[in-house]
Amino acid sequence: MTKQTKGIHHITAIVGHPQENADFYAGFLGLRLVKKTINFDDPGTYHLYFGDEIGNPGTIITFFPWPGAHQGKNGSGQVGITSYAVPPGSFPFWEKRLHAYNIEYLKITRFGEDSLLFDDLHGLHIELVEREEGPANAWANDGFSSKVAIKGFAGATLLTAQPEQTGLLLEKVMGLTKVGKDKDFVRYQSIGDLGNRIDVKQTVMPKGQMGVGTVHHIAWRAENDADQLDWKDYLETEGMQVTPVKERQYFNAVYFREPGSILFEIATDPPGFTIDETREELGTKLMLPKWYEPQRGSIEEMLAPFEVRKLD
Ligand code: ZN
Repeated sequence: MTKQTKGIHHITAIVGHPQENADFYAGFLGLRLVKKTINFDDPGTYHLYFGDEIGNPGTIITFFPWPGAHQGKNGSGQVGITSYAVPPGSFPFWEKRLHAYNIEYLKITRFGEDSLLFDDLHGLHIELVEREEGPANAWANDGFSSKVAIKGFAGATLLTAQPEQTGLLLEKVMGLTKVGKDKDFVRYQSIGDLGNRIDVKQTVMPKGQMGVGTVHHIAWRAENDADQLDWKDYLETEGMQVTPVKERQYFNAVYFREPGSILFEIATDPPGFTIDETREELGTKLMLPKWYEPQRGSIEEMLAPFEVRKLD
């Protein structure tokens, strides 16, 4: 059996205060807060989802904001850089914006593509790459037209403890194609048009430590529940230890740790974020799964208030 994921479904990271998180991803990057809910495994913590207009798979970055928690350390066993695709010709807009908000950035070239590399307010490494692929983002936020708006993920850079074995897993099991090597990075490409280029750093970094400013896991796309169960069986025959299916309301999830210690998830494309809010309402209210609804009052009291707001 051979299977192929289309690419990244979502990336989940740990950050600090939710207001700073919303200011950066909605205010500065222009993404839409498509869902405000809680961590189903830790209901005193938000789980915030930012993406394109409706949070399509391949556009979703999700956060567990832990205000006041200790800073993590980026290193092996983690995603090192989250890359976003922006339309060709949009770099002047982004460079001007980075300057306007005093965000230091580097302009680097990898695999013949320029990218802008900078950190979010909590230390996560973010990159913008101009890409033709992927539909334009129809979310019309303040000052963002679809000519400059982030389309979704361009890909990610993986920091693995076992670069060769992680590469083999991406190629032989996840169904990506090895497309080349540039300096310290080997690139693998998936069949989708977003979240499709995965760079594996060949030098092993010191072990990462979970905390604020680090990625918790990266999720790959499954077509539906049946495809996800196929993936689970397939991964198990390939020697991975895969969790039972967990209901995440907006998708179903299974998790496994790849050989280089990075936490991988397989997430279903459906049902998506309009299952409990209309397209217009997305992200405007605290949404709870039905099993937590009776505790809404006490849950709301534990959560720090924040808003999506226009930056000065
Ligand atoms: Zn996830």
